Amino acid sequence: MKKIIFLLAITLIFTACKDNNAKDNGKLNIVTTTTMLTDLVQNIGGDLVNVQGLMGSGVDPHLYKASEGDVSKLVNADIIFYSGLHLEGKLVEVLEKMESSNKTTIALADALDKKTLIGSEYFASNYDPHVWFDINYFEQFAEKTAAVLAEKDPTNAAKYEANKEAYILKLEALQNTIKQTIETLPKEKRVLVTAHDAFNYFGKAYGFEVVGLQGISTATEAGVQDVQKLATFIIDKQIKAIFIESSVPKRTIEALQASVNSKGHDVKIGGTLYSDALGTTGTVEGTYIGMFKYNVNTIVNALK
Ligand SMILES: [Zn+2]
Repeated sequence: MKKIIFLLAITLIFTACKDNNAKDNGKLNIVTTTTMLTDLVQNIGGDLVNVQGLMGSGVDPHLYKASEGDVSKLVNADIIFYSGLHLEGKLVEVLEKMESSNKTTIALADALDKKTLIGSEYFASNYDPHVWFDINYFEQFAEKTAAVLAEKDPTNAAKYEANKEAYILKLEALQNTIKQTIETLPKEKRVLVTAHDAFNYFGKAYGFEVVGLQGISTATEAGVQDVQKLATFIIDKQIKAIFIESSVPKRTIEALQASVNSKGHDVKIGGTLYSDALGTTGTVEGTYIGMFKYNVNTIVNALK
């Protein structure tokens, strides 16, 4: 019943705002879901667009539900960008509703070649949605974003294209920097144990074995058996550090640390990684590029 009322509310707001699709001060109104996408669209749209992100720093996209305020932002947007592949599991219904109402609603992961993605039984999409941890995929997000902005606002197409080119150069530089940093860590030490499986694409792209305690989505809790199994793995591999994630409660990783330590191996908490959300807006880690460098430096320093 609650769901029906909610959908009805969306329909009403949508009907009320249908004609309010004009550009605000000549700028496109864009709504994004995660902080990664907010940063991306800001880089490509620059001051030609208004960007409103629904999720803030430290917010878990798997569990995020739309508030009434969010729904009215979505309804008033010229373009909605979301990540897709069921990353935003609890927003799917609202986003699909927007799409079926002919609003420009773009799942950026749809631009990726599915054959290259990592499969996952945990998501309704059947794919692991944490694709932004391979910088090549994030570059494809940038390409798609620029194309959508240019189509919607052709007058400024050349500017979006130039912004995108400049941003991709920065992403290429980022890729070189992090590869150099990772080179300083011996290959056998490249094992990343974190709270949930957000880093599979990172591992595949940059040569880490990745193990998440909580399975691939935070919607499923880790059991005692998972903790015991992973503790044994950490001791066998003589892993020096495990990692907390900014958008996942740290208790499961602390339980894992306690279990390892009780078996006589000293494993440290190597720091907090940004997984499904960036750091605070206005800080270096509040950008995709800053977040990536911070994560890689944290991982490499703790595992050395
Ligand atoms: Zn996740």
